[in-house]
Amino acid sequence: MAEIEREAMEYDVVIVGAGPAGLSAAIRLKQLDSDLQVVVLEKGSEVGAHILSGAVLDPCGLDALIPDWKEKGAPLNVPVKDDNFYMLGEAGQIRIPNFPMPPLMNNHGNYIVSMGNVCRWMAEQAEELGVEIFPGMACSELVYGDNGEVKGVVAGVFGLEADGSYGPNTEPGMELHGKYVFLSEGVRGSLSKEVIAKYGLSDGKEPQKYGVGMKEIWEIDPAKHKEGSVTHTMGWPLGSNAGGGSFIYHLDNNQVYVGFVVHLNYKNPHLYPYMEFQRFKHHPMVAELLKGGKRVAYGARAITEGGYQSMPKLVAPGVALLGCSAGMVNVPRIKGNHNAMLSGKAAAEAAYDAIKAERAGDELAAYEVNVRDGAIGADLKKVRNVKPMWSKWGLTASLMLGGLDMWTNTFGFSLFGTIGHGKNDAEATEPADQHKPIDYPKPDGVLSFDRLTNVAFAATNHEESQPCHLRLGNQDTPIQVNLPKYAEPAQRYCPAGVYEVVEKDGKPEFVVNFQNCVHCKTCDIKDPSQNITWTTPQGGDGPNYPNM
Ligand SMILES: Cc1cc2nc3c(=O)[nH]c(=O)nc-3n(C[C@H](O)[C@H](O)[C@H](O)COP(=O)(O)OP(=O)(O)OC[C@H]3O[C@@H](n4cnc5c(N)ncnc54)[C@H](O)[C@@H]3O)c2cc1C
Repeated sequence: MAEIEREAMEYDVVIVGAGPAGLSAAIRLKQLDSDLQVVVLEKGSEVGAHILSGAVLDPCGLDALIPDWKEKGAPLNVPVKDDNFYMLGEAGQIRIPNFPMPPLMNNHGNYIVSMGNVCRWMAEQAEELGVEIFPGMACSELVYGDNGEVKGVVAGVFGLEADGSYGPNTEPGMELHGKYVFLSEGVRGSLSKEVIAKYGLSDGKEPQKYGVGMKEIWEIDPAKHKEGSVTHTMGWPLGSNAGGGSFIYHLDNNQVYVGFVVHLNYKNPHLYPYMEFQRFKHHPMVAELLKGGKRVAYGARAITEGGYQSMPKLVAPGVALLGCSAGMVNVPRIKGNHNAMLSGKAAAEAAYDAIKAERAGDELAAYEVNVRDGAIGADLKKVRNVKPMWSKWGLTASLMLGGLDMWTNTFGFSLFGTIGHGKNDAEATEPADQHKPIDYPKPDGVLSFDRLTNVAFAATNHEESQPCHLRLGNQDTPIQVNLPKYAEPAQRYCPAGVYEVVEKDGKPEFVVNFQNCVHCKTCDIKDPSQNITWTTPQGGDGPNYPNM
C-alpha cells in the first residue's frame, strides 16, 4: 500500500482523552502559561459522551486545580448527607455501622455528581483559557520520532473500508505532534497499552486488576428519594462467586444512580456479570426503592483495581500516562476522579518546567516523583492491601483484615507489608468443567431488563461499514479453544451483548456485534486466551451518555 500522507500540526502538549485527567492537565498548562499550545482529542461525539462514573466526587482534585470552582459554577450541587453500608443476604440486609470504618472511607465533604457534566464544565473552563478541544476525534495510532520517543498521535481517520483498506471516502486523518504527549484514555487505554508494552513500563510491577462496572440511572418516586444519600452494598447476589458490590447514589431531580461492580478475577466462566446486576435489583431493599420508578439510562465501563502496586512506570520518552491510563482508583473508596485530576495537574506542571527549560521528547521524571511521593501515592498506598486480601481470602476476611490494615495505615504502618495480586484477570479464569453453570432468573422487564434492551439506553452507535474495532488475533480461537474449554465466556462477560455463539449449518460460529460496543474494554481484559484487542473505532462512535 502506498505511504499515507497526512498533514501534521505542531503543539506543545497533545492530550488524548477529555476525561478528568486530560482536562485537568490542559487547564493547568494554560494556567501556567497562556502561550502554550495545548490540544485535547476526545473520541466521544462530545465531551462527556463516554464518561460513566456517576460518582461520589472527592473535591480535593478540583480544589487544587480551580480553587474557586464554586463561584465559577461547577456542577457539584449535591453534597453527601448520609453514608450507608450494608451486607446483603438474599432476603435481608445488615447495616454495618460507620464508626468502625477508617476515616478515609467517610464521604462527608464529597459530592454526588454527574462526571459527564463535570467534564463538560471543565471543558468550558479549558476552552476559556485557550485550549483547543476536538471531540469526535479518536486517536488511533502513536507517532514515534527518530530516537524512538513518542512524538504525536494520528487522529481523525474516517471512512475506512470494512477490510481496513482506504476507499474513495476515506479521510486519512492528521498527525498531531507535541513536545510531550499525555495519554489520559482512562482504564485500559488502547494507546496506553501499546506504550506500556513497548517501553516495558509494567516490568517489575504487579499485574493491573480490573472490575466491570455497570450503571443505570433511575427516576424514582419522589417520596422515596433522599437527595445526598449514598449506599454501598456487598454480599448477595455474588456471594463467594466473585468480589464486587453495588452503589446507590441519590442525585437531585429524583434521580438515582444504581450501579454494580464485579471484580474480573472471577474463576467461574459461567458467571454473567450483567445478570448479577439485574438480579441485585430484585433484592427487597433495592426493589422497594425502585418500584414505581423507571430506568432512563444504562452504561458500562471497566474500572482499574490494581492500585498502588500495579501502577506502571508513568513516563517514557515523550509520553506520560495520566489518571486511569495508569490505574489510580482507590478501590475501597471506589474513587479515582480526584486522583485523575491531581495527576493531570502534576503532569502539566512537569511538562511546563521541561518546556521552559527547552526540553522535549524526554521523560518527565518529576511527574513520576510527584505521583508516587505526593497525594496520589499516599491515597493509594493506605489501601493497597484491600483488593489482594479480598481476592485471596474472601469478603469477610478482607473486611476485617482490610479494615485493620486501613486503620494502621492511617497511622503510617502496615502489618502486612504490600500484598501481591498474583494472576491477571484473564489468567484467573478456570475451565468451565471445573464449575457449575449458574441459573439466572429471566429479567421481568420492570426492575430487570435483558441486555439488548438496556444497551438501547446507552444510545451507542457505530458506523457499520467500518472495520470491526474488536480485533481477534486468531479467528479460530473463540470456537476451537474458548468454547470447549471456557464455554466462551465472552457471551457473558460483555455487558453490551457484543459477542454471541450462534449455530450455522449445524456448527457453532462466533459473532461480533461491534455496533453494540459501549467501550468498556472488558473483552480486552477478560478474554482467557487474550485474543481480543480493543482498538478505537472512528471518532464520534460509541455510547452517548447523558448525565452519567
Ligand atoms: C462504574 C464506575 C463507578 C465509578 N465511581 C466512581 C466514583 O463514585 N467516584 C470516583 O471518584 N471515581 C469513580 N470511578 C472511577 C473513575 O471513573 C475513574 O477513576 C476516572 O474516570 C478516571 O479518569 P480518567 O480521566 O483517567 O479517564 P476517563 O474518565 O475514563 O476519561 C478518558 C477519556 O478518554 C477518551 N479516550 C480514550 N481513549 C481515547 C483515544 N484513543 N482517543 C481519543 N479519546 C480517547 C474516553 O472517551 C474518555 O472520555 C468509577 C468507575 C466506574 C467504572
